[in-house]
Amino acid sequence: MERILDEEQLQLLRRKIDEARRVACVCHVNPDGDAMGSTLAIAAWMMRLGKECCVIVPNRFPDFLRWMPCADQVIRYDKNTAKADDFLRQADLLWVCDMNEPSRALEMEGILCECSDCSRETGGLFMLMVDHHLHPAEGFCNLQLSHPDMCATCEVICHLMCQMGEGGDMSTQEATCLYTGMMTDTGAFTYASTRSVIYECVSLLLSRGIDKDKIYRNVFWTASPARMRLIGYLLYVKMELIQGMNTAVMTLTNKERRMLGVKNGDTEGIVNMPLQVQGLRLSALISEDTEHPGFVKFSLRSVDDFPCNEMSARFFNGGGHKNASGGRMQCTIEEAVEIFRHAVKEFEPMLCR
Ligand code: 5GP
Ligand code: MN
Repeated sequence: MERILDEEQLQLLRRKIDEARRVACVCHVNPDGDAMGSTLAIAAWMMRLGKECCVIVPNRFPDFLRWMPCADQVIRYDKNTAKADDFLRQADLLWVCDMNEPSRALEMEGILCECSDCSRETGGLFMLMVDHHLHPAEGFCNLQLSHPDMCATCEVICHLMCQMGEGGDMSTQEATCLYTGMMTDTGAFTYASTRSVIYECVSLLLSRGIDKDKIYRNVFWTASPARMRLIGYLLYVKMELIQGMNTAVMTLTNKERRMLGVKNGDTEGIVNMPLQVQGLRLSALISEDTEHPGFVKFSLRSVDDFPCNEMSARFFNGGGHKNASGGRMQCTIEEAVEIFRHAVKEFEPMLCR
């Protein structure tokens, strides 16, 4: 396992956890398996240590994560803003999970910046970032455990818990949450998962009693009929292979979502599917933002060394990882597709080699 804290940080964190009574865990908007896994694992850990703990997420999380331990106790910020603000203002330890900057929490950005100011000025609140995205916002948290080399925030937490001597006390619930995050962020260990230490983590989690096959089924084999129809529709009707560019693009409007009876989480992961086409290097799903009318979301996936985060940062007002990135713009789907075509043209040398 990897050491992710130096001795001074270890002592500091031990002291902050010991002293804390009210603990909050937050993550990015549209929480995925790693965001839910990391916040729920930490919450379970903190509750095991006798803390009052609360997980607050910016908005709805996908139905295929509802089975997760204590997911029913998660507070949605968009639905319970006052209650969440209240808890955050009274917390003395705040874990910022799977996000590198406050803007990734969208509507929660304001209260998180308020917390950050408070943590710097009064010292009454200690903020800790555990994350694996590039470019963590400097000065946002008091302690920053940012590891872009790791496959998931849940992996970071696995190392953290081991280093803090918690590996042997980890509950099956905590381990289940951590495995879920590592499994979902690596497509069930099919990408971003070549470091051997990942399997040391998996081995530890198995020894803590997880049922990995059940977790897999819970996450990946719980599609709604609408999702299956959506997959068929997108691949058959909407997938466009951009001539000579080794690129596929699909679009999805809210009208099409209604036609197919599609819910938010139903689109999860579909953007990966065109990459199964021989020779394809880049796949994009461009969709109308269901919660913010007038905005369009970009979701990109690539293989090998194609840096879709650079494309997202340059053209789609976004960012992310080398092989999985996204962005958001205020425009129509048609305009977004034009912007995407332009971006592909600009990246032609990298797409066609
Ligand atoms: P997804 O396609 O699953 O929505 O996003 C894939 C990854 O891209 C996320 O894990 C995140 O790192 C990044 N990402 C998605 N949307 C945005 C965005 O609007 N801004 C930034 N900076 N990154 C994003
Ligand atoms: Mn993640």
